[in-house]
Amino acid sequence: MRKNNMHLIKEMIGLSVSEAKAVQDHNEFLMAQMPYFDSCFNHWLQKFDFENTLKDPIFRTDFYTIFVYCEFTDPFYSVMYDQALRWHRAGLSHNHVMVILSKVRKIFISMVEEKANPCLAKGLCHTVDMVQSIVNSVFQLHETLHNMKKRSELEVDRMQRTFQLISLSAPKVLLQAFIDHQNWKIRAYEAALGDIVDANFPFSTSECQLGKWLNSGGLETIPEDQKMQFIEAHEKVHELGYLALQDARAHHPEKITAFLGEMENASDLVCNVLLQLINEVFIRASTMDHLTEIANRNAFGGQLEQNISLSKRHQFWLGLIVMDIDYFKPLNDNYGHAYGDQVLKEVSQVLVSSVRTEDDICRWGGEEFTILAIDTDPANIHNLAERIRIKIEQSEFCQSTDSPTQLTVSLGSVALHPLLDKTSDEIFKMADEQLYLAKQDGRNRVKARIIDN
Ligand code: GH3
Ligand code: MG
Ligand code: MG
Repeated sequence: MRKNNMHLIKEMIGLSVSEAKAVQDHNEFLMAQMPYFDSCFNHWLQKFDFENTLKDPIFRTDFYTIFVYCEFTDPFYSVMYDQALRWHRAGLSHNHVMVILSKVRKIFISMVEEKANPCLAKGLCHTVDMVQSIVNSVFQLHETLHNMKKRSELEVDRMQRTFQLISLSAPKVLLQAFIDHQNWKIRAYEAALGDIVDANFPFSTSECQLGKWLNSGGLETIPEDQKMQFIEAHEKVHELGYLALQDARAHHPEKITAFLGEMENASDLVCNVLLQLINEVFIRASTMDHLTEIANRNAFGGQLEQNISLSKRHQFWLGLIVMDIDYFKPLNDNYGHAYGDQVLKEVSQVLVSSVRTEDDICRWGGEEFTILAIDTDPANIHNLAERIRIKIEQSEFCQSTDSPTQLTVSLGSVALHPLLDKTSDEIFKMADEQLYLAKQDGRNRVKARIIDN
């Protein structure tokens, strides 16, 4: 874990043992100077307006004592951390605080001038640096929290809008798990920054929405190679958030920044996987026909391109079958739209049960469907079209209604030699021409064409 405690800060700032000792040796003298410090500071402060805008005094009552005690253990860090939180809460900007600390430094330098002890002066200046570094961490945490809230709102809004684009609502449970995870992080930050005190933090990873989602089947949807990392990262987020919260409550904030930083890294992994899953749901939803639950026209382009390249790679014939229900309009007109919808669903089921798993079917639109298949023999493609035709002719649709019906379909089938270079538009047009011929020829038939040059 990244170190971010007093030792590290001390090392970085360069406060030496002799400097700290010089300050400690002059503790009595420095304590006696407290009224001088106060009067200098207040005198300076009166020149500025912002004192009047502050409800509370600028410094905690123990600020000076702890400062000149120069013992960099817990009380120093927690008092200064709290001091920084108060400054932030009072509405002081980072710049304001830097100016205040710069004044504090100047007063101390003038205070110890008579002692002509460079070690003492340096020790006090370095102590100001220590406070400055704590202030920086606190203001940075606030900045991170602010950005995190904004980013999280934007991300959720973006996902909801994306789903609205295809007239669907975002996957509720998954999205809720994402939102809950973001809120957990935000609450951990708020707690560390003293903004909330009595937040209820489920420590257990199975109590949060994300955990509940994982335990109710969500885990199965995560790609196998990411599962372990995901579980570990989720546990880590809880553990680190909890540690940060404990430390904040116990006024031991030395490690909070490190805890939250580590938590953020683990959370990135969790968020990336969740966003990827939501994205996959979106892709599936936007390429699926919602009535029949088979692929829709958006998916067809990709299906065709994929089959073209498969056919070339394996030197198989590329088959495209376009199918249209015969006299579908009268069905709609006689029995109503809902009845027509039920027919479309059942026709899709016949298609699903007629093709091999590697074949692609799609609802091209209305009562038109496409089937893509590759095969070593072009005859197999046309046979598939014929099998579908017979199966539909022999089926009875809407059996659960008062008016079961039979129907027929017309199909245009093309089998394309793998060495031919045809665009997807050309291929579709050729199959559609065959469908047109089948309709013209009296319907309930397959018109097939082998294209080898
Ligand atoms: P043909 O044999 O020449 O194909 O005649 P048809 O009546 O099947 O063809 P036409 O193109 O005239 O009619 C297609 C009908 O499909 C008209 C339209 O209302 C209906 N339709 C399109 N989409 C849907 C849908 O989603 N649900 C329902 N119930 N009907 C639909
Ligand atoms: Mg049609
Ligand atoms: Mg039709």
